[in-house]
Amino acid sequence: MNIKNCKSCGNIFAPDAGEKFCPDCMGEREEKYKKVKDFLWDNPNATVDRVNEETGVEKDLIIEFVKEGRLEADEVVVDGLLECERCGVSISSGRYCSSCKQELAQGLSGDDSSDKKKKQEKKKRSDSKEMHTKDRINDRRKGKN
Ligand SMILES: [Zn+2]
Ligand SMILES: [Zn+2]
Repeated sequence: MNIKNCKSCGNIFAPDAGEKFCPDCMGEREEKYKKVKDFLWDNPNATVDRVNEETGVEKDLIIEFVKEGRLEADEVVVDGLLECERCGVSISSGRYCSSCKQELAQGLSGDDSSDKKKKQEKKKRSDSKEMHTKDRINDRRKGKN
């Protein structure tokens, strides 16, 4: 059983694919995401502050959407609010600044992790019991008529 605590409300739930939030909160987030998306559709390049004021969606949540890559940098202005998770420099989209992204990419490509998975299939041969008819039944038929 794979059970998690919802990061938002703390309720216990069973994630299907590593979700951080329970279905209720996921639904709420989706609602808010749609609100933000709709607002940005009409008001491109709005600041996070403005989106927050107009939609009532928490700033943190808006920034999370940006981090998750669901809001693009050219949709919402997050200057000064979003920080590189690695070096802390202020960025406008994603989780890392461009230089950290490069370093991470290099680090990842250099990491040669070759997984050797040997699949050993053990075939158990179930010995079928051979029927040996040791005893010969000599059926003597004595036909007496
Ligand atoms: Zn929840
Ligand atoms: Zn960085």
